[in-house]
Amino acid sequence: MLPPGSTIGILGGGQLGRMLAVAAAQLGYKTHIYAPDAESVAAQVAAQHTQAAWDDEPRLATFAAHCDVVTFEFENVPVDTLRFLSGHVAVRAGADALEIAQDRLIEKNFVAGLGGRPAPFAAAPDRAALDTAIAAIGTPAILKTVRMGYDGKGQARLAAPDDADAAWDAIDRHAAVLEGFVAFDHEFSVLMVRGIDGETRFWDSPVNIHEDGILATSTLPPPPIVLDQQAEARDLMAAIAADLDYVGVLTGEFFATDKGPVFNEMAPRVHNSGHWTIEGAVTSQFENHIRAIAGLPLGDTASPRLPVVMRNLIGAGINDAPALLAEPGCHLHHYGKAEVRAGRKLGHATWVGTEPA
Ligand code: AMP
Repeated sequence: MLPPGSTIGILGGGQLGRMLAVAAAQLGYKTHIYAPDAESVAAQVAAQHTQAAWDDEPRLATFAAHCDVVTFEFENVPVDTLRFLSGHVAVRAGADALEIAQDRLIEKNFVAGLGGRPAPFAAAPDRAALDTAIAAIGTPAILKTVRMGYDGKGQARLAAPDDADAAWDAIDRHAAVLEGFVAFDHEFSVLMVRGIDGETRFWDSPVNIHEDGILATSTLPPPPIVLDQQAEARDLMAAIAADLDYVGVLTGEFFATDKGPVFNEMAPRVHNSGHWTIEGAVTSQFENHIRAIAGLPLGDTASPRLPVVMRNLIGAGINDAPALLAEPGCHLHHYGKAEVRAGRKLGHATWVGTEPA
C-alpha cells in the first residue's frame, strides 16, 4: 500500500489527469504531471510539473526518481516512454495494454483472440489494399487510421466503393483499417477497475451518444437492450484485464446490436463516459484508479441515485456554465482550459437523481 504523502506521476496533462490529481489529493497523495504541452490543466492542481518531450530520457529519469508509482491519462504516450520508465519505477496500467490500445489492428485481433466480437474488419495499409478491403467488407464502411485516432479524428465513412479515393485522402493516406458499418441500437461502455490482487469491479454501463465522433452524453439507466448485453461485454473486459494482468480503470466501448454486443475499442485509462461516476457512483473512476495503482482497497462502484446524465461542454458549450450552476441537481466541472475552440472538451455537467432542465 502506497503510504499517504507518496507521489503519483501522471503522464499527460489534460482533464483526465486533472481529475485524477484531485482524487489522489483526497487520498493524501501528491501528483507530478509530465507532459510536453505548454498548457497543462492537470498541472494547475498538481504538486509538481515537468514540461518535457516524451523521449527526453534524462528528464524522464528525474521524473521517475521523484515518483513512487506512475500512471498515464493520455493514450498516445509513446510505448517506449512507458517501457523506459518501467525500468525505474512501477508503471500502472502497464505498457502492454497501451501498446494494444494504440493500434486498432492489434487491438481487434487481440480481442477476437479472447472471444470478443469486433465489427468485421480488414487491414488497409495502403491505397491498393483498401480496394481489397472494400471487396472483402463491403459498404457502408468506416475507414480508421490504425494509430493516433481519437474523438472521431482519423476516420472517414464510405457509403459506396466509389468513396475510396476521398476516404483515403481524408485520413491523410495513413495505414488504416476498414470496418463494416455496424447497425447498432445503442452505444455503451463497460467501466471497470482491477486491483493489484486481481479483484475486479464494474460500474453500471451508461448509454453513450456521440456527435461528430465526439462523446456528447452518457446516461443511466441504459435501455433494456444494453442491460441485457452488459454481462457478456463485462465478461470480455474482465478476460482482457486478466490476460494483461491489468491494474487500474479499463474502459471498453461497445455497440448493442440485435446479434449481441459488438466490441468497438478499449481505453486503458479512465474515460469520458465514466465522468458521471464522480457524483453518480459511491466511488468515482478517478478515485478507484488511484486506489488500484496505490494498492488500496477498491471502493464501492454502485450508482445509488438514478437517473444520471453527463453532458460534455464542448467549444462554445462552456458558455452554458453559469446557467447550469443554477440548476438543482447539476454538478459542473470546468477544466480550466484557456482557449475555447470548436470541438474542444472544456468541461462537463452531471445531473444526479434528476434530468437536465
Ligand atoms: P471510435 O473512434 O472508433 O470510437 O468511433 C467514433 C464513433 O463513430 C463511435 O462512437 C460510433 O458512433 C461511430 N462508429 C465507429 N465505428 C463504427 C462502426 N464500425 N459502425 C458504426 N458506427 C461506428
